[in-house]
Amino acid sequence: MINIAPKLSDQEYEKNFAELHSPMSKNSAIAESNRCLYCYDSPCTKACPTYIDIPAFIKKIATGNLKGSAKTILESNWIALTCAKACPVQVLCEGACVFNEKGEKPIEIGRLQRFVMDKYFEDGMPKLFPPAAKNGKNVGIIGSGPAGLACGAELALLGFDVTIYEAKEIPGGLDTWGVAPYKVRQSDSLKEVKLVESFGVKIITKTRIGKYISFEKLSAKHDAIFIGIGLGESFDLKIEGEDLKGVVGALEFIEEVKKEKWSSVNVGKRVAVIGAGNTSIDAATEAKRLGAEQVMIIYRRSRSEMPAYEFEFELAQQDGVIFYFQTNPVRVIGNSFVEGIECQKMQMIEPDEKGRRRPKPIPNSEFVIPVDMVIKAIGQQTNISFLESIPNLKIENGMIVVDLETYQTGNTKVFAGGDCINGGKEVVNAAYDGKRAAHGIYKYLFEE
Ligand code: SF4
Repeated sequence: MINIAPKLSDQEYEKNFAELHSPMSKNSAIAESNRCLYCYDSPCTKACPTYIDIPAFIKKIATGNLKGSAKTILESNWIALTCAKACPVQVLCEGACVFNEKGEKPIEIGRLQRFVMDKYFEDGMPKLFPPAAKNGKNVGIIGSGPAGLACGAELALLGFDVTIYEAKEIPGGLDTWGVAPYKVRQSDSLKEVKLVESFGVKIITKTRIGKYISFEKLSAKHDAIFIGIGLGESFDLKIEGEDLKGVVGALEFIEEVKKEKWSSVNVGKRVAVIGAGNTSIDAATEAKRLGAEQVMIIYRRSRSEMPAYEFEFELAQQDGVIFYFQTNPVRVIGNSFVEGIECQKMQMIEPDEKGRRRPKPIPNSEFVIPVDMVIKAIGQQTNISFLESIPNLKIENGMIVVDLETYQTGNTKVFAGGDCINGGKEVVNAAYDGKRAAHGIYKYLFEE
């Protein structure tokens, strides 16, 4: 990179990456839980992808039964601390809370859940679930992200021997490596890894399936396999200059930031992030918080088609990120390092088959934005290399095809869940998939 943003002091980094939402005190949690109406039809629960019994866990906070509250939460979601901090609650549980209809502040469900889970981990993870009698079967799980961990925990409590194979040195997948650190720190994710291990689940790190162990060998070792590998590298922009130094993938950049060695991450003085999804927002705000002077998000459609949530957009704006809508990058400029990005203005025309208005280039509208770094955030591809070796496994549009009741793939012994089946949703969706898949595996091995 030609122009690296000046490094900040340790205090500045810590301030910039401090948690977005502060924890609740005991008194605030009790007061907030007493505000809940314990609605008989609990729309908040229906809006939670893992269907946590929200009024029940809130009621238990109000009565001081925090262990019971943690049990209610964990019965539905094994990744409850990460979800409490990273879930887009505005569009899920809190967005469905009846207080919104009255024009009042919804119950702070996310912060209440975090209060309970913080206490549970502070207390050393008290035993809430009796160990199951061993059922004599064993399952191999590929990937220790939210889907793999949830599947592993559920299987262990159903009596299975479970081994999780993780390619990286530190387990936790997206929760450990992909969620912005001002939402979830690695230490939070690792608490949940410990919880899953406490049920007897074995996690073997630095083991990439397809490289160190073939899928065939793995399959021969286990009675069933669950695949929870998430997504792989960022999609290429497919434009000239993409191989210049200073062009990086969003996930690769975010992974560097997640190591929390802030000063060792080089960021350009002027950074262009391509794409306007939630990952783009994370990359842009992280670049800004690392000290970049100017960060811009370049998106070829208009604001109304932007995939990022409204609250994420507002966060980026608060951080001073500049948005270039209806702007398409056509060339990265530079000799060996990025020096600029040439863009073209777009106009929105009639919708495509999915109902989204399409962008059309405006002739002779090209212009150059001087930048030192380009972050590609137009989505990620599924790492399909080893998947191709699995007999009868079907992949469509880069996603593994499963039966959505059982999470079984075309290969009856193989199950899958999380981003690798949905193309990239929330952590909470992966947690739900993993849990459901565990029951799909149970049914396959004991009821069919
Ligand atoms: Fe409580 Fe709101 Fe859920 Fe009703 S919708 S149970 S008030 S959190």
